[in-house]
Amino acid sequence: MNRFAGTLYQLAPVWGQNLLLTGFGMALERERYGGRFREYRDMLSRTEWYSRADLQAYQDERLRDVVRHAYDTVPYYRRRFDVQKVRPGDVRGRADLPKLPVLTRDDIRRHFDELRSTAVPARAMRKGHTSGTTGTPLTVGYDRETVWMTYAVFDRHYRWADCRFGRNGSRVAVARGNVIVPLRQKKPPFWRRNRSQNQLLLSAFHLSKGNLPAYVEALTRFQPDVIDGYPSTLYVLARFLQTNGMTFPVKAAVTSSETLYDFQREVIEERFACRVFDYYALAERVLFSGECDRHQGHHLAMEYGVAETVDSSSLPVPDGSVGRLVGTTLHNAAMPLIRYVTSDMSAIRPGVCPCGRGLEVMDDVTTKAEDLLTLKDGRLISPSVLTHPFKPLDCIEGSQIVQTEPDRMIVRLVPGTGYTDTLGQHLVKELKGRLGEDMQIDLELVQELEQTSRGKFKWVTSRVPIGI
Ligand SMILES: [Zn+2]
Repeated sequence: MNRFAGTLYQLAPVWGQNLLLTGFGMALERERYGGRFREYRDMLSRTEWYSRADLQAYQDERLRDVVRHAYDTVPYYRRRFDVQKVRPGDVRGRADLPKLPVLTRDDIRRHFDELRSTAVPARAMRKGHTSGTTGTPLTVGYDRETVWMTYAVFDRHYRWADCRFGRNGSRVAVARGNVIVPLRQKKPPFWRRNRSQNQLLLSAFHLSKGNLPAYVEALTRFQPDVIDGYPSTLYVLARFLQTNGMTFPVKAAVTSSETLYDFQREVIEERFACRVFDYYALAERVLFSGECDRHQGHHLAMEYGVAETVDSSSLPVPDGSVGRLVGTTLHNAAMPLIRYVTSDMSAIRPGVCPCGRGLEVMDDVTTKAEDLLTLKDGRLISPSVLTHPFKPLDCIEGSQIVQTEPDRMIVRLVPGTGYTDTLGQHLVKELKGRLGEDMQIDLELVQELEQTSRGKFKWVTSRVPIGI
């Protein structure tokens, strides 16, 4: 929505907002599901069954085109490749990617115009914005081919969850970061309807104990097939159901955009009586991965982009080892991002998934680089490890960890009934047991936890830079 439409939306009554959302949804539908969308969708339903070798051959072929196109029409790459003395012909496939320089967020910010292909007219370029978990928002450009391919890949993910996208598809309750309900609004409805995509959009900014019964009523009226949102938001809904001894069966829960912790998955699956199909996507549109019905890691959409996991020298780490995720587009001619360095850590697994799809499998991205705690002795601590001391503490409504220095962190707690200082001290002791006695842990009791401006929740934040 542009700024004018945004203002109009904020001022409109609820019925007007529903109409605007539906109209906006129709425009989006034309943009996303027009053109070659169907062609890509059909292609993806075939290629997922290709062998690993065939998929890699497909990637090699596309990659040669992308690199050639980048060198011929994108001034930034021409300059960088020349400096490194690499020719497009030197890149015959994915194995040759380490010959090329990596591309960082900073590079894109500084060289946005130089990164645009001269072969693609400006009017054909769309712009996407990332929410900037690092506090530095980023704009990237992409073309319509990339839009269609992206939505074809999303469509496949929904299909893996046995659901369908779109007007005649599954009924989807969406709980994401869109500010669809003005923050000043204090009474229900905290949701809006997008009829063109069969969605009920739930505000992620009004979830409070007092408002939750109204959310459940709205869900009951809407009867969704799918509940789709941030893990933290679905977890809040699931916890509410749990506290009240309720279940709300749906066909599938789809999560993304945040780390999905095991404790969240368990409660969501139990209370919505379904499996969680998590996916990983980047606004930069270079990588996509999602869980199939075997739930043994995330399948990389190898037709969409090439994933690498690298060390601090941008060299590949072996399969099975954790490295920083680096992605290369196989479609975006308008602004081809080659070896784009993400802020996420993962491992690409050896072997194939028991489902039989040839698509590579990577570990869940449980570790955003900035979520890892870096200790004084250099140990990198994954947030998942820290969930355990919190598990037995039912008297805590919520928690958040901020590491401020190598040997200092703040633990914010929203205390619930039954919370005592002794329990708090016990938690500190348990955490020290994992992090070391020299870690200074300051407990802060708060009423609410901090969200990012997009309504995302980060459980662990570290302000200590990591070495890799
Ligand atoms: Zn699979």
